Amino acid sequence: MKKLIILLLFIPLVSFGQNDGVEFCYKLGNRSFNTNTDAINSLEKILAVANLKSNRFVILPCDNVSNALAGVYQGFRYILYKPSWMNQNDNWGKMAVLAHEVGHHINGHTLSGYSLSESRQVELEADDWAGYAMAKIGASLAQTLELTKRFQTGDDTNSTHPNRAKRIAALTSGWNTGNETISSKRKEKYVPDNSNMSASEYWNRAYEKAETGDHYGAIKDYTKSIELAPNNDSAYYNRGVSKQDLEDYYGAIKDYTKSIELEPNYTNAYANRGVSKHKLEDHYGAIADYTKAIELDPNDADAYYNRGISKQDLEDYYGAIKDYTKFIELDPNDADAYYNRGISKQDLEDYYGAIKDYTKFIELDPNDADAYYNRGVSKKNLEDYYGAIADYTKAIELDPDDANAYSSRGISKEDLGDLNGACSDWKKAASLGHTNSAEWVANQCN
Ligand SMILES: [Zn+2]
Repeated sequence: MKKLIILLLFIPLVSFGQNDGVEFCYKLGNRSFNTNTDAINSLEKILAVANLKSNRFVILPCDNVSNALAGVYQGFRYILYKPSWMNQNDNWGKMAVLAHEVGHHINGHTLSGYSLSESRQVELEADDWAGYAMAKIGASLAQTLELTKRFQTGDDTNSTHPNRAKRIAALTSGWNTGNETISSKRKEKYVPDNSNMSASEYWNRAYEKAETGDHYGAIKDYTKSIELAPNNDSAYYNRGVSKQDLEDYYGAIKDYTKSIELEPNYTNAYANRGVSKHKLEDHYGAIADYTKAIELDPNDADAYYNRGISKQDLEDYYGAIKDYTKFIELDPNDADAYYNRGISKQDLEDYYGAIKDYTKFIELDPNDADAYYNRGVSKKNLEDYYGAIADYTKAIELDPDDANAYSSRGISKEDLGDLNGACSDWKKAASLGHTNSAEWVANQCN
């Protein structure tokens, strides 16, 4: 019997729960920070005014905002934008809105927890910077004020945003500052502190390092990101993935656990923690984690597959078969689940079932010697010796140094009364180090 093929499915991306709204977008953004180039280009123009790079923030599309939104989530500064809005042609209007959102970040606004009057003050600060940035990127005052057309007028006492007149005043004041610095090179009004990298910059760099396989570098950067933003679940999760890749399973488990503490519905954190536990041969622990992942996402095919492997390790073959079957339902073209299910069926002496699964596997992956070998074993157990010999022969063709295949073929030949053929196979197996075959040669062959 051949060893089980263990495939550890690995998902180095965070997942997200059922939350709707903006929080959903934040979590989506943690998967990767790529976004459309138009958005990046527009933002880069504005950020250049403050000498900032776009990876200072997490910039990502979000259908749940009306146009654009600045936010702080788990210690990262975000700029969310609606893709359909970003793709429109009103270029200056778009730039003014983006500049306003950047203005919130430049001013260090926390973007929550303000009273109404504080909130209105904060909006005016963002407008002031927006006007300044618009002047710097070449917008006229009229172009800068274009977007104020739809702002509310009149009493703003009960509003988070100031009325139109106040906002025009703030934008104009900022625009004047920007415009004067162009003409007279006056001292800059806004000098943001660029000396330190932000949490999201470290996160981004770590992600890129991990993508190129530099997991040590990635771990270092995730650690820096965590220092600056200790409550970001994705930084722990991804650091866990890098540790797992370096076979530091204890460290990985610790990080997944922390990410689960911060986000109790973190499906992939359970799934991957299960993999690390499996690697440490904590099969019961692994099964508990896969089960939790499946609870959170009943269509998580990989979790069924991996739970099947752990059950198989615990010799729960019926349980394993059930999980592989579920996996195959969800992903019918993945060959390995058929192979593993075949082994479990074989262990339960369901040789017909096993042969069916190996055959399906071979259909999908025709060059795997082990599959032919195992199918041969099942055929032999059904006393189909010719069939077994054909499969062993194919296994030998694919892997000419497979001592087990020669040895087993010899046994089937012996079963058919072909002792000469058997001896020649056993001699070959013995020469490849198969000790039983060497004994048989000594006792039965000339
Ligand atoms: Zn605002």
